[in-house]
Amino acid sequence: MITRTLGPDDVPALAARFEGEAPDELLRWAGEQFGERIVLTCSWQRTTSVLVDILSRVPTTPRVVEIDTGLLFDESHATRRALIARYGIEVETIMPGMDLAEQAAAEGPELWSRDAVRCCFLRKVEPLQRALGGMDAWVTGIRRDQSVSRANARPIEWDPAHGVIKIQPLVAFSDADVEAHLREHDVPYNALHDQGYPSIGCVPCTRPVLPGEDARSGRWSGSTKTECGLHTTSVR
Ligand code: SF4
Repeated sequence: MITRTLGPDDVPALAARFEGEAPDELLRWAGEQFGERIVLTCSWQRTTSVLVDILSRVPTTPRVVEIDTGLLFDESHATRRALIARYGIEVETIMPGMDLAEQAAAEGPELWSRDAVRCCFLRKVEPLQRALGGMDAWVTGIRRDQSVSRANARPIEWDPAHGVIKIQPLVAFSDADVEAHLREHDVPYNALHDQGYPSIGCVPCTRPVLPGEDARSGRWSGSTKTECGLHTTSVR
């Protein structure tokens, strides 16, 4: 049964209730609460693979969405194909308002090298706004141990920018937990993770990390930017 729409005032109690709860229980509750008004966004990293696998065993059926910046790695596209083949999911591809040639004409070539914030807005943030329009909840793969900026993430948060409840079933997963889940269930995952890429985004803004570096230090390396802007306004 679908109950009333939740808002920011509900988040603290819900976050406390689901702290330490298994991901499948949180996703099951989300399905009962929000029905079909849930979106799962796919980055085609390991956490996407884990979430798609868990969702295959609960009655929750979110819209499954990818934002294709036009600059994704071949390995990320291959992961999408592998997960579709394995789980039969339908993936909705959301494109930026401009293709790369149009963006180069309007903003100059290789915008990412001059203004990554603007590039991420055009190619990720604005498409996400469209993807979440009219939705009540957004399932993400955020984990606390990915970076300092995510260390205080909670299983349920409020996103005021999009007016949705964020559902974060893997928030307490460690790297070892993710690896164990993929291995135990033989889940397809992005091959770049075995080539020194703990975090994967667009080709121009992602490099492998060195031993001892933060998992997200390979993203926008050499700049102060640490997030693409999709997850920076949550209320916990
Ligand atoms: S990650 Fe880089 S290439 Fe991708 S949208 Fe952001 S700035 Fe542009």
